[in-house]
Formats: sequence, structure tokens, C-alpha cells
Amino acid sequence: MDLANIKKIMIGPIPYDVTIEDRILNSQNQDLNGEIYYERGTIKISKDCHPVVQKVVVLHEVIHGVLDTAGITDHQEPWIVAVSNGLIKAFMDNPDLADYLTAPVSMETEEDNA
Ligand SMILES: [Zn+2]
Repeated sequence: MDLANIKKIMIGPIPYDVTIEDRILNSQNQDLNGEIYYERGTIKISKDCHPVVQKVVVLHEVIHGVLDTAGITDHQEPWIVAVSNGLIKAFMDNPDLADYLTAPVSMETEEDNA
């Protein structure tokens, strides 16, 4: 799966458009690998990143989105960097893990079957 195939990511109730950009600058004119814009519902990823770095950056921005959706606005950047890098490595080292975690689960209870 290529990043270009990821057009939209749902984070809670909010759909985020995903775009691949030639350049992403912050307000201090520093180059960024990625950025999330909560109000616009947009996640931008730099096209110049190594493909593995792009995966880490996508997960990094999703974590920001999850925290923001939960009302947490004070994001600890080193924690997000550690978790996004660590999880991407764990998923790459354990290819069945993502399939297991995202496989549908029956929501029927024993009472439904009675
Ligand atoms: Zn960040």
C-alpha cells in the first residue's frame, strides 16, 4: 500500500484529507516532515521523506489527532515521536499484528443468541 492511496483518515468523528506536499513549512519557516490541521481536517506529509519516515509521520500526525479529538491540547512531542517510531517498528517486525488488531470482532453477546 502506497501513501498516495490513503486519501482520507477518520480520527474519531473527523475525516482528515491526506495530501502529499512538495514542502511543508511551519510559522518559523522551518521544514516539516508532516503537519496536522485540526480545524481544516487536513494531514500533510512531505514527499521528500523516506517511505518508512512517511509511515512514522502519518502515525505521528494521527496520534496528534487522537489526542486533540479527546480534548487533550498539551501534546508531549518526545512521547509522540517515541510511540510513533516504536509502533511502526513493532508493526513492521510483526506483520500479523496489524491484521490481528484490526480484524472485525463479533459484537454479538450470549443474550443475542438466546
Ligand atoms: Zn508532532
